[in-house]
This record gives sequence, C-alpha cells and structure tokens, in this order.
Amino acid sequence: MKIKDIQTIEVLGHGYSTYVRVYTDEGLTGTGECIHGRSASSAIISDMKALLLNENPFDIDRLFEKVRRAYIFDGAIGGNVISALTGIEIALWDLVGKALNLPVYQLLGGKFRDKIRLYSDCGGGMDEPESCGKKAKEVVSMGFNAIKFDIDDFNNPYKLDSWNWSITPGELQSMIDKVSAVRESVGPNIDIAVDMHGRYDTHSAIRVAKALEPYNLLWLEEPVPPENITAMREVKSSTSTPICAGENLFLRYGFRELIEKQAVDIIMPDIPKCCGLSEGRKIANMAEIYYIPMAPHNVCGPLGTIASCHVCASIPNFLVLEWHWLGRKHWDELVFGGDSIIKDGYIEVPDRPGLGVEINPDAVKKYMRSGTKFFD
Ligand code: MG
Repeated sequence: MKIKDIQTIEVLGHGYSTYVRVYTDEGLTGTGECIHGRSASSAIISDMKALLLNENPFDIDRLFEKVRRAYIFDGAIGGNVISALTGIEIALWDLVGKALNLPVYQLLGGKFRDKIRLYSDCGGGMDEPESCGKKAKEVVSMGFNAIKFDIDDFNNPYKLDSWNWSITPGELQSMIDKVSAVRESVGPNIDIAVDMHGRYDTHSAIRVAKALEPYNLLWLEEPVPPENITAMREVKSSTSTPICAGENLFLRYGFRELIEKQAVDIIMPDIPKCCGLSEGRKIANMAEIYYIPMAPHNVCGPLGTIASCHVCASIPNFLVLEWHWLGRKHWDELVFGGDSIIKDGYIEVPDRPGLGVEINPDAVKKYMRSGTKFFD
C-alpha cells in the first residue's frame, strides 16, 4: 500500500480544526484532526505531502521522523510545523487501523480502560462567583464528575495593569470567591480544576496556589508562563495544591525538563496539537516513571477527541481528558452516529477499526472556513 494523496479541510470550532485525509493506491483512506495551527496547517501539510507520496503508510513513526527532520530549520521542535504533522500522523493511525481491521488502541499496545473520563471546561473567566456556582451544578448534573473554571480575568476591576503579571489583593480575593462558590455548589466529591493561563509571575502564582489549598483542587493550571521550568517548579514546591502544565509544549523534548525536574504534579499535552498518538504515548510513558499522571488538554472536535481517547486508553497513568465544547450543540453532529459520544461524563473507547468515528460531511461542511473546499 502506498500513500497517493493528502488533503485538508479547515473547520471552525474552538479556533481552527484542520481535518487531514490520507489517500492510498488501494482506495483506503484515513482521517485525522489537528488543532491550533490556524490556517497555516493546511499550507504546511500541502508542503509536507511531497515527502510522503509513495511511502508505506504503515511506517508511521519513521514517516513522522522523516518529515520532522526535514523541517529542522523550519520549526521542527514545536509550533505549527508539529501541529500540522500531528494531523497527518493521526490520519495514518486511522488508515492503518482500518487496513488491519483493528481499533487504534489495540495498535498502541491495548487498553487499560474501556471508557475515558472527561472533565468539562466551564469557562467562567469573566463570570461572577454565583454564576460559576450555578454553572458548576448544571454541568455536574450532566454527569461530569470533574470540571474546570478559568480564574484569570482581564476585566477584573482590581487588576491595575494589563501587562504587569503581579496579582493585586482584590484580584486574589475574586479568585478565592469564585473557587469557594464552585466548591460550595458541587460539594466535596467533585474534582475542580482551575486555570490561570500562564498570566502571573512566580510570587503571585504562589500566593494563589496557597490561598486555594483549602478547596482541595484537582489542579491549578499554568500558574506561571510555561517557558520557565524553574519558576514552575518553585510554585509546585511551595504548595500542596497540585500544579498542572504542558498544553503549550511540544514533543518529548518539550516535556523532558518539566518531567525530569518534576516541576509539575500533572502533565497536560494537547495530543492533536503537540505530538500525535505515538509521541503522546511516549510522553505519558516518560511521565509514568516519575509517577506523574497525564490529563491531556483538548479543544478538538469529536474526531481529534477520540484520537486522544485511544492514547488515554493505552497508558496506565491517564487521569482525565478535557472536553471544551459546553453549550455548542453541533459538536456531536460533526461525526456520524446521532447520539452524543459522551455519556455521563465519559467516552467509551470505540472498538471499530481505526479511530472508530467518521466525520459527517453534511455537518462538517456547515462549519468549514469560508472560501475553503471539502475533500475530493
Ligand atoms: Mg489551560
């Protein structure tokens, strides 16, 4: 079997999703999804295609590395190049699974679990504590036993300078009030994570982490920017609140220092953005030997989410996977099946060949970026 073509479509969801389809000389195709590459992903994938034509699609790791090394001067350690390559990699797994009549998790070494626990991102950055509490209760009633809220707020009236990363006392109190309202609303047995989006300096992050200790958080996410691992480690070592980071890192190389220095309690690679399925599993395996769990970041449509689920199924140290489409009903329409693939806050890992879900062309076409065309 040989790769004969690679095509992309751009779908607007949580930002850009780029769907990638790999075609073969035997008529079999595989489809993947990558995220966060904006409109660059399609252009980069089109450029990468020349390196993949007439290659054997079963050599997934070799093809990934062939392309990555060819782009060494163009950003092969992170960013748009890796996100684009990730879309191709996921499409190859779908293709090979279909060719062998096996679900992808089976090709990744089999599964540790049949269903993947999700947490629902609830947003909330600019919401008042009472409305956060109300929303938390609603989401828990949908079946989720883990939720996440944003606690950084650009419009906070106590924020005195939009560039300075130091927290003010009023801002800190707003964060405490919000977390307190959510905890009170859902009770002690629901996991609550909160996100600061890397927008605070080290001493501010430590103050927040310590102030939130009484609320027994699942994690505090990116309290400082992700670039400085030593600062992240300082925050982690100062508090009993678990620290989670990694949604803006790429490949094993990007996670190496974070893991080796044990600068976080939990890692959160975005698998359809930062690495793909094979590399995602390797990152999880690196973290496993330091007893660090993995809770992947995820803002993809259902195809990319299911791709992440196959990795989450195949590693022992999976904690929980993000779902970021609350209130956007069309998420379920993007793949065939009618019913939601989410049941009571979990996704069952598909047993069908490949990724186990197919995009629904009629639904996807409705949300494509204007001026772009569907697969041939
Ligand atoms: Mg985040």
